[in-house]
Amino acid sequence: MTKRIFISGAAQGIGAAIARLFYQKGYRVGIYDIHQTKAHTLANELGENAKAGHLDVSDYQQWQTVLQDFVNWAGGLDILVNNAGILYSGDFEATDIDHHHRTIDVNVKGVLNGCHAALPYLKQQAHARIINLSSASAIYGQPDLVSYSSSKFAVRGITEGLDIEWAKYGIRVLDVMPLFVNTDMVSNMDAGTIKNMGVHLQAGDVAQAVWQTATSQWPLLATHHPVGFSTRLMFHLSQFSPQCVNRWANIFLSRK
Ligand code: NAD
Repeated sequence: MTKRIFISGAAQGIGAAIARLFYQKGYRVGIYDIHQTKAHTLANELGENAKAGHLDVSDYQQWQTVLQDFVNWAGGLDILVNNAGILYSGDFEATDIDHHHRTIDVNVKGVLNGCHAALPYLKQQAHARIINLSSASAIYGQPDLVSYSSSKFAVRGITEGLDIEWAKYGIRVLDVMPLFVNTDMVSNMDAGTIKNMGVHLQAGDVAQAVWQTATSQWPLLATHHPVGFSTRLMFHLSQFSPQCVNRWANIFLSRK
């Protein structure tokens, strides 16, 4: 039977790469984004097994409407990818407070909304999954990216909690944690870490990680999936190294 995946923020960047990959693998794909025209262009390019629509993830009622619409069209929902996200960089105090608030609305409330609204549909499928886009900035709080980094820590917490809570429904809730990826999100980013560490991942690399995470049947599958060698190294080292070492390492990596 054809499987169904719904991706938020899929008009461009990582979301679009996930949509392309799952479409190639034979899935029915939902491409939903605040940029409706771009989402429709991608769906038209992919073909009849892709459906696009407008969604602002910070609006719960919109989630309910579009998921119902998608399920009516696709016949069910097997995978939800909470991918939509925004980022403001620079000094915390120089960033408008509305931008900090909007980051939480999209990156945190957007994920809570998606998980909550999708549960009735995911519960009906065997081996359903949610894949959340977390980030390497959820390993240690990031200067110049404070609200973004804290939003990704929240995604990490949502993922861990629900991955335990929804075991009763047979649903795995997992995340991927990439370091910087070559998309519009990081162009003009004002943060020391990107200057010092560079951008070494492409959107397709993250899409591959999402594919592996979403389809692996390994019974001991981990909840978090750092993407790329340096993220894996930082993720694992941070679990064992003392707090002061983690802080010093982050001071070094974020120097301007
Ligand atoms: P991007 O800016 O290229 O794409 C983000 C997409 O989300 C856009 O299509 C945008 O229109 C959409 N979007 C923004 N606000 C929305 C809203 N309220 N409702 C619905 N859609 C909305 O960025 P990207 O790099 O593709 O990022 C995708 C995800 O990956 C984000 O969650 C991001 O935090 C995460 N991530 C990105 C990087 C990176 O370096 N690019 C690293 C780690 C994690």
